[in-house]
Amino acid sequence: MSAELISIDPATLAEVGRTPIASAPDVDAKVAAAHDAFALWKRDRRTRRALLAACADALTARAAEIIPLLTREQGKPLSDAGTEVWLTAHCLTRASEVEWAEETAGPDLTGRRVTVQHRPLGVVAAIVPWNFPLFLMAAKIGPALAAGNTVVVKPAESVSLVVSKVVEILRSVLPDGVLDVVTGGPDTGRYLIAHRKVRKVSFTGSTAVGRQIMRQAADTVTPVTLELGGNDPAILLDDADIDGSATALAHGAFFNAGQMCIAPKRAYVPEPMLDAFCDAFADRMGSLVVGNGLDPATTVGPLHTRTQLDFVTQLLDKAVAGGATVVRGGGAGTDLPGHFLEPTLVRGVDDTTDLVALEQFGPVFPVVGYRDVDTVLGTLDDQEFGLGASVWSANLDHAARTADRIDAGTVWINQHNALDVSLPFGGSKGSGFGREGGLAGVEEFLHTRVVDVKL
Ligand code: NAD
Repeated sequence: MSAELISIDPATLAEVGRTPIASAPDVDAKVAAAHDAFALWKRDRRTRRALLAACADALTARAAEIIPLLTREQGKPLSDAGTEVWLTAHCLTRASEVEWAEETAGPDLTGRRVTVQHRPLGVVAAIVPWNFPLFLMAAKIGPALAAGNTVVVKPAESVSLVVSKVVEILRSVLPDGVLDVVTGGPDTGRYLIAHRKVRKVSFTGSTAVGRQIMRQAADTVTPVTLELGGNDPAILLDDADIDGSATALAHGAFFNAGQMCIAPKRAYVPEPMLDAFCDAFADRMGSLVVGNGLDPATTVGPLHTRTQLDFVTQLLDKAVAGGATVVRGGGAGTDLPGHFLEPTLVRGVDDTTDLVALEQFGPVFPVVGYRDVDTVLGTLDDQEFGLGASVWSANLDHAARTADRIDAGTVWINQHNALDVSLPFGGSKGSGFGREGGLAGVEEFLHTRVVDVKL
């Protein structure tokens, strides 16, 4: 077995570079260093705040090196890579600014003085996917470090170069051992989770792997936060603005080539509005440019892996074989040799079509016509995911009542995938549990203990 990971440019299939696969002794050494560093790092919140702000500055200063590497290794367009680097720095700064009470007086108990303390946990294992490798890492290390923990990151193997580079930049600012990275595949992740000195696992990735992580963490009774897959529906009510919703959804559906946990992944549209919605949506797709992310004209890059391309293509082919119609797209969209699929709009599908029912994680957008919104909401409730959803209506009260009936971590009204790193973000049902962002995000990395003194 190779002791190296080989990163491939998904647009050209050329090798971008190599990273070592961490051995068990490497992981042991990094966790031990993180454990040692915890003793000092947990003490002084003001120092942590200043150093996290310095981390954000260091990233911003080196953005010109990071952005093209992120594009070459992940595939996303340069402008989106720039946005991700900015968001990564912003997330670290925002996390450092979160306020919480480290100690509060307990209830007045006769003859006792009780203090309730909120303390960091120790070494955190942060396991991160490939779709937003830097931002999703920052969503963990920002709050974990701000709360006083130390962190060992395990990135997805296919983005190890860019994550290692960013961790190296952050490490140049932070005290030794406070942050490190171990590169490798699932075996490296499993070994890290099982480590006795790891006190918390924060995982973002697929629901299938999330289940495994939860089982693995059970062996050591290590707490987990699970940010898992999604299959966000956009539900147009009968008074929705067709042009406005089509414009916003066509943008959100194809951002990052559809490889976004909270991308709108399907629309439910009243049957009388179906033709007008599909026409407007297909029209908006006309402005999208498929290509190599390094070309400044590109707005939609390749899918990140061949496996991902094959999976989405199979779902599309199966839907078409079952009677679905491709309204626009369906081809590669470029002659480049990489993993390309152009933005594709599909109709003539329903909830029994795998393209609608599964998380396809690619640039294909199925539209389902409906007669009765109660049936749509009932079906959603039975489905696996509960990450995000959107409701579209000119009547905000009507939209809010509908939103109230959807079990999801975020429900948007007349928008989809609007994010802010100070808001609590996470899922329900098969999309996981625990929150990232703001105070809720920091609280995932604290535990509550009591000091009870007999007077
Ligand atoms: P993945 O689950 O395949 O891998 C995620 C990470 O887990 C990688 O670092 C991988 O090496 C590691 N891993 C795999 N098996 C492991 C094991 N047994 N033990 C420990 N670590 C293991 O996910 P992916 O393909 O990289 O990312 C795409 C998925 O992530 C999609 O399902 C997407 O919806 C989800 N996602 C969710 C969110 C969210 O916030 N909810 C955000 C982004 C992506």
